[in-house]
Amino acid sequence: MRNEVSYDIAIVGGGAAGLMAAIAARSSRNRSLRIAVVEKNEKAGKKLYATGNGRCNLLNRMADAKDYRSGKGDAAGFTASVLENCGPEAMRQIFAHLGLDAVEEGEGRLYPRSLQAASVVHALERGAFGKTGSGSPAQLICGFEVRDITKAPDGRFRLTAADDRELLAERVILTTGGKAGIQYGCDGRGLKIAESLGHTVVRPIPALTGFLCAETDLLAKLAGVRAHGTVRLLAVPEGGRTENGICLSQDTGEIQFNKDSVSGICVMNVSGFYRHREGMTFVLQLDLMPEWHEMDLMMKLEERKASLGDLFLDALLPAKLAEAVLELAGEGQAPEAAAHLLKNLTFTPVASKGWKEAHTTSGGVALAEVDPVALQSHLVPGLYFAGEILDVDAPCGGYSLTWAFGSGRTAGLAAAESI
Ligand SMILES: Cc1cc2nc3c(=O)[nH]c(=O)nc-3n(C[C@H](O)[C@H](O)[C@H](O)COP(=O)(O)OP(=O)(O)OC[C@H]3O[C@@H](n4cnc5c(N)ncnc54)[C@H](O)[C@@H]3O)c2cc1C
Repeated sequence: MRNEVSYDIAIVGGGAAGLMAAIAARSSRNRSLRIAVVEKNEKAGKKLYATGNGRCNLLNRMADAKDYRSGKGDAAGFTASVLENCGPEAMRQIFAHLGLDAVEEGEGRLYPRSLQAASVVHALERGAFGKTGSGSPAQLICGFEVRDITKAPDGRFRLTAADDRELLAERVILTTGGKAGIQYGCDGRGLKIAESLGHTVVRPIPALTGFLCAETDLLAKLAGVRAHGTVRLLAVPEGGRTENGICLSQDTGEIQFNKDSVSGICVMNVSGFYRHREGMTFVLQLDLMPEWHEMDLMMKLEERKASLGDLFLDALLPAKLAEAVLELAGEGQAPEAAAHLLKNLTFTPVASKGWKEAHTTSGGVALAEVDPVALQSHLVPGLYFAGEILDVDAPCGGYSLTWAFGSGRTAGLAAAESI
């Protein structure tokens, strides 16, 4: 006879979505539920401590269904119900209830008043495991790395850990995240478990990350430079011209040059579109003067050249970048060549910066196989998904956590009310 413990709901992964799912489940009308949060790390919320550079941009006040996409395209149809019922305002109120006030910075980004990510983790832990609050506290089981989930003969789920411990549950909510931030515990195991249960997984790729680029000599000169501009990720037919490329995504903001890579928030925001396409290569095209048309810029540079001579890019760009552009413009440093380069400086991505650097995952459990209202599997009754494990991703700015918390609450309530 195995030494098995049984729960009504087992939540696999004690991150943003899992902790919020536990808070929702214990507060549901069904107050006497036995809920477990099973976490492979030694503590819950390890990734959350690192979010927003340690300050945690926990929500975006303006997050809307259309801000979300999937590895297959648009995700607005899928995310609409979660955002409508458990959107940023509802989540802000839940955090306020847990004693966490949020303050707004630019563009709707909300942070804890303390500006410490730890406050967010502590509030979630209070809500999920604390003695106060409605319903029985959930139980946190750390150091339990779920390796496998199967159905027991009586219909319950059997969760097996890497060290062979087992537990049983009537309902399972998978909140293991994707593969981003592998150092915080996300190694894609949850996606493998979803596949073993019959789900399709859209190939995960690192998103919200920078690009390693082929132009290492140029990058060595630019290392440390930050500039404002528009970034376009183009898919160009192999052997074709950049001019014939298709723009997959573009964004404007700060661009950061490093010794072998290009990064910065606007680069991160296009990185989720770097998905293999047969017969296509990728180009990262930078417009370092987005406020000017090329022709107007050329005239402006000609005027500046007449008065400033070789210093005609001085103060328009960081010095190292101006120097590099002039060098690329070549002999005579013609304003025309410089204007063209400033509008179309191209880099060739050879790879994204990978899972350790990525803030999120593009791809995941295919949305067509999950009910968007309850987040229950269409294939395995009693199995729910929330957070980054689903094929939903978004730009920087608190959108990922808005999704993780909103979907966590949705799945937690639905699972609890189904019992
Ligand atoms: C450095 C960094 C900064 C970020 N900053 C922000 C930000 O400021 N704002 C924002 O909106 N988003 C940010 N993000 C993204 C955001 O943190 C994630 O999208 C979000 O945490 C996803 O929530 P989740 O609950 O789905 O997964 P996670 O928070 O990743 O939680 C998953 C949990 O599951 C556990 N787990 C995994 N596999 C198993 C297993 N087999 N058994 C048991 N447990 C398992 C993991 O250890 C982990 O604790 C950032 C990400 C990173 C890496």
